Formats: sequence, C-alpha cells, structure tokens
Amino acid sequence: EERSDSGAFELFEPALRANLKQRREMELDLKAALDAEEFELYYQPFVDMADKRVSGFEALLRWRHPEKGMISPSVFIPLAEEAGLIERLGVWCLETACAEAATWPESMTISVNLSPMQFKSATLLSDIDRALNNSGLAAERLQIEVTESLFLDESDRVLDILKEMRRRGLTVSMDDFGTGYSSLGYLSRFSFNKIKIDQSFVRDMGRAENIAIVRSVIGLSKSLNMQVIAEGIETEDQMRALLAEGCREMQGYFFSTPQPKEELPRVIADITNR
Ligand code: C2E
Ligand code: CA
Ligand code: CA
Ligand code: CA
Repeated sequence: EERSDSGAFELFEPALRANLKQRREMELDLKAALDAEEFELYYQPFVDMADKRVSGFEALLRWRHPEKGMISPSVFIPLAEEAGLIERLGVWCLETACAEAATWPESMTISVNLSPMQFKSATLLSDIDRALNNSGLAAERLQIEVTESLFLDESDRVLDILKEMRRRGLTVSMDDFGTGYSSLGYLSRFSFNKIKIDQSFVRDMGRAENIAIVRSVIGLSKSLNMQVIAEGIETEDQMRALLAEGCREMQGYFFSTPQPKEELPRVIADITNR
C-alpha cells in the first residue's frame, strides 16, 4: 500500500477512495449480516500431545457473505470495530460458542477470542455470565484469548476485568505471544493462565533464532506457572520439534483446519485414532 515515489499520490488517492467506499459498503453489509445470521463459528482443535486427545477447540468467526462468499475475520473484525458493531458480534460469538461447547464431552474447553474494544463495554462480564448461564457451561471450560494490544492503554480497568474473569474460573490466555509491541511488564502485573506461542515462531523452527524464542517462551511459562500452547503447526517436523522443547498442547492444520460444528465428531475421532 505504501508508495514512496513522488507520482504516487495521483495513483494512490483514487484507490484509497474506492477502498473507503468499499469499506463503508461492507460496514452496512455487516449490520445487515448480524440480523440475517450470516455469521458462523468454525472450530479448530487443541491437541494434548501427552495422551493424543482433543483438549478443546478455538472458535473462529466466519462471515458467509451472500455475494462475496467467505470473508476472513482479519478483514471484517477491524470493520466491525470501526462501525461500533464488535460488541454485538462479540456477544453473539460468546453465546454461540458456549452453547455449542455445552454439547461436547466435559473434558473439552472452548476458547473465544476477544477484541480489545470489547473490554470497553460496560457489560462484558455480565455478557459472559449470561452466555454461561444460558448454556449451562461451567466457567472452567471457557477460555478467553486476548492479544498484547489490549495492554497498549495500560488501564487498571482491563486488569480488573481480567482478574474478575479469573475469579470466575475462566482461563485467560495470551494469544500471538511475542508479536506485540508492549513490554513484558504486564506479565508481572497480571498472571495469565496460558500463553499461546505465535505461529510465526513455529513456522520456521529450523531457524536457530526461532528455536531459541520458542525455548525461552516455554521456560518463561514454566517459571511463571502458566500453561503453554503452540499454534500454526503444519508439519510433523514442527510437531516433533515442539514436543522436544517440552510443549504439550498444540494447534494447527497438521491436526485439523477450523471446521463447522457438524464435523467435530469426525475431527475428534481422526485425532484420537491417528
Ligand atoms: P488468531 O486468533 O491468531 O487465530 C489463528 C488464525 O490462524 C486463524 O485464522 C486460523 O484459521 C489460522 N490457523 C490455524 N492453524 C493454522 C496453521 O497451521 N497454519 C496457518 N497458516 N494458519 C493457521 P482466522 O480464522 O482467519 O482468524 C484470523 C484472526 O481473526 C484470528 O487470529 C483472530 O485474531 C481473529 N478472530 C477470529 N475469530 C474471532 C472472533 O470470534 N472474535 C475476535 N475478536 N477475533 C476473531
Ligand atoms: Ca486466537
Ligand atoms: Ca493466534
Ligand atoms: Ca493472530
């Protein structure tokens, strides 16, 4: 998108306008989509390598647009945030994910991603309570995934909400660990239950630098008494390298891509019989 040559402005500006127009259109579509129930959750398993079983699933949002087809959450979540729709969308995710997880074996958890903007909502905690009550899901089976960007505005409010989540028995997980801009200070001010090693470090475990990072994140999680999970495992070599570093819980296309709920019994059977 960035262009440094001096003639770039004329080229760039119409494109930007089109982009804005497209974005505004999509924001309108988003509002309609919430009413038309065009959203769907897909589920990707967490695998506990110690006993080769599915320990839980992460809920990943999908938008089946009537004309444009499947739209990626990396595209529409920022739009939903801008359009002030993330709160409604987030509540829908919590309700739907908890209701689905309540039908699974009790040993399995459900992980829900929360956007930092949802922490600005006055009702986040009561929304979670309602999702748990409506579904009958035990709080211990709900995991919340947040990213480091949540800590950009150093607010006590965020820490208080996270503490309340933990007090209820939820697992609070730090997603994409190591990719954010914030310092490690928040780790000492708030103890997470779990760290998720970002897929960028897993992708090329052949590189000495990446092994060193993975090793130190696992060491950090152990000394801070946190669980650790690695995401983005695509190959057997990556799985073996992580296992050798002492990482037990894993997630990635190697085990399963995200799947609609109807497919989960098959996903569980495939992983167990592997
Ligand atoms: P994330 O939370 O880091 O999720 C991991 C992303 O990596 C997912 O993309 C997943 O499909 C993909 N992935 C999983 N295994 C592999 C693998 O082995 N290789 C590769 N290359 N990719 C893998 P997805 O589903 O497109 O989601 C993108 C991002 O959108 C998520 O990143 C998350 O930040 C956001 N997102 C998804 N669902 C929700 C939601 O319900 N609420 C919020 N606030 N954000 C969501
Ligand atoms: Ca996540
Ligand atoms: Ca992630
Ligand atoms: Ca990510």
